Amino acid sequence: MDFRLTDEQAALRESVRDFARDVVAPVIAEHYEQHTFPYEVIRQMGKMGLFGLPFDEEHGGMGGDYFALCLALEELARVDSSVAITLEAAVSLGAMPIYRFGTEEQKATWLPRLLSGEALAGFGLTEPGTGSDAAGTQTRAVLDGDEWVINGSKAFITNSGTDITAMVTVTAVTGTNPDGSKELSTIIVPTGTPGFTVAPGYSKVGWTASDTHELTFDDCRVPAANLLGERGRGFAQFLRILDEGRIAIAALAVGLAQGCVDESIKYAKERHAFGRPIGVNQAIQFKIADMELKAHTARLAYYDAAARMLAGEPFKRQAAIAKLHASTIAVDNAREATQIHGGYGFMNEYPVARFWRDSKILEIGEGTSEVQRMIIARDLGL
Ligand SMILES: Cc1cc2nc3c(=O)[nH]c(=O)nc-3n(C[C@H](O)[C@H](O)[C@H](O)COP(=O)(O)OP(=O)(O)OC[C@H]3O[C@@H](n4cnc5c(N)ncnc54)[C@H](O)[C@@H]3O)c2cc1C
Repeated sequence: MDFRLTDEQAALRESVRDFARDVVAPVIAEHYEQHTFPYEVIRQMGKMGLFGLPFDEEHGGMGGDYFALCLALEELARVDSSVAITLEAAVSLGAMPIYRFGTEEQKATWLPRLLSGEALAGFGLTEPGTGSDAAGTQTRAVLDGDEWVINGSKAFITNSGTDITAMVTVTAVTGTNPDGSKELSTIIVPTGTPGFTVAPGYSKVGWTASDTHELTFDDCRVPAANLLGERGRGFAQFLRILDEGRIAIAALAVGLAQGCVDESIKYAKERHAFGRPIGVNQAIQFKIADMELKAHTARLAYYDAAARMLAGEPFKRQAAIAKLHASTIAVDNAREATQIHGGYGFMNEYPVARFWRDSKILEIGEGTSEVQRMIIARDLGL
């Protein structure tokens, strides 16, 4: 088993690391403070090919794989999580369902713009009344002639309301299965379709430079051809998308955890108390050593999950472990990094304050920590 990166993977990591330091870091605090979407940063990420990383060249991608996406997410989140989650949601939740389940016509219509970063797509699964229990979906779609008529609403949908959002995929109840359970299907709804309303952005604790909205569908009509994949396969589709997405969120969490280490080392050397740098105190050194330990082990967990996924092996349990562990240690590291920064850690001008505010959602989004434990336990036969 070899967890060392190939030359190509190391080069990608370096180029994203440079980009995060030179392009993201100088502007992101202002966007975070003003709650504005960093269009120019996103445009440059598109030019770098980041939105096309795990897709084949035939469809306009970079010919890389999911692990390449994870490496990029880790390096971005080491500096800023709003930009990282924008990429994560755009690729693994936005474009991936079209790539995995779409017809050639749907791929030809949507992928070129999504994979170049020129356009973004959202993934509408969560509803105001149901998140963890995704089978509790209330949104309904009824086939009327050659159109789906959609009614319902979705909550917390990332990338769904930017100026460059082209569409959202929406899970909806389309009937009843023979065993009496809900038949769930996924439907593509282009931005601007009559009856599709995007509410103003939420006021969030963190990820404030990312885009999140509630969506309403009121007799919203789209062509029958906008069904994504087979009718009734919605449940299986989003389980697959979320299993993969957990590895990506784990990578993002590792990036945040490592960013906490970076900032803490810098500050521990600069800041003086009692006539010497605070970093000479073993209490501070041990905090930082523990933070590095956590980031390192969480990284190995997501490398392992990604390796299994790319080898075509079962990876559900390992993805849940990676997401659960990485999000837990991200919160730990953010708390300790803030502590090391003392009062300055509570000031928004310091990156660790952003890390602290951005860390909590990692234990909630794309499956809460409780849901990850349920997945692990189920996979162990419990
Ligand atoms: C900023 C942001 C961005 C998001 N982006 C998207 C997106 O792009 N697309 C999308 O579809 N969703 C998105 N989400 C939604 C997110 O995935 C959900 O919030 C998450 O899955 C939890 O669902 P919920 O909020 O309904 O919590 P609930 O399901 O109501 O859970 C509440 C609490 O109860 C616990 N709980 C629930 N059931 C059990 C159980 N059986 N046993 C033990 N504990 C349980 C949960 O773990 C949690 O602690 C986003 C959320 C946020 C905040």
